[in-house]
Amino acid sequence: MKIEVLGCHGGQLPGRNNTALLLNNDTLIDAGTIALTLGIEKQRKIRNAFISHAHLDHTGALPFFAVNIVSNKTEGVKIYGAKSAVDAVKTHLMNNVIWPDFTKIKNFGGNPVFEYKPLPVNKWIKAGEYKIKLIPVNHTVPTTGMLIGHKNRYLLYSGDTKETSGIWKEAGKLGSKLKAVFVETAFPDSLAFLGEASGHLVPSTLKKQLDKLGPKQKPKIFVYHVKPEYVAQVKKELSRIRGRKIRVLDEGGVYTV
Ligand SMILES: [Zn+2]
Ligand SMILES: [Zn+2]
Repeated sequence: MKIEVLGCHGGQLPGRNNTALLLNNDTLIDAGTIALTLGIEKQRKIRNAFISHAHLDHTGALPFFAVNIVSNKTEGVKIYGAKSAVDAVKTHLMNNVIWPDFTKIKNFGGNPVFEYKPLPVNKWIKAGEYKIKLIPVNHTVPTTGMLIGHKNRYLLYSGDTKETSGIWKEAGKLGSKLKAVFVETAFPDSLAFLGEASGHLVPSTLKKQLDKLGPKQKPKIFVYHVKPEYVAQVKKELSRIRGRKIRVLDEGGVYTV
């Protein structure tokens, strides 16, 4: 699986954008940044978006993306997520007040620009070419992490979460088929109280999560969602974690897993 990083921070500063990953050129994992970092021809090739939760740093780029793909002659882009996340986008973001409802606007092929696809949680579902299982995690609003499979290779994407157990247990069941873990870490350890209050990990709680993987599982570990002003401090603290090689994602980076 190819992962292109459109944004990998938990906030915005020049060169640091909100979280969105592009999987195999056709599927977004979260949608905090799209049009600012991806050319229009590549935007038009996107067919699916998997949304972890409603927060703006994970959905806020959808309105401008919708405008850029009206000239598509394809089927509409499918917006997948738990019902709570999909409903929130529909009700609070693209609600004909903040922005038009692009499920009611047709693209040049006569299909709705967006189609909302709420998914059940804790169940493997086929979505396009992918298998996906949404698993509730531990954040301030309903949020699901996800396991995504393609041709028998799997990745874990944590969504925003503090300490949690279900998704790590499910990841364990995948054994060596789990090739990569994309996991959030927002603050340095000195701000652990903020992580706890805002539903985020810090390096010491991240380590406890990674210890929940099977001892023989050796997926690549990628950290995202660091608050832009704390990147250097968080990297230093992550480098002290023994036993797992942890990489912090780079904006614009392309990774194969
Ligand atoms: Zn959040
Ligand atoms: Zn977030």
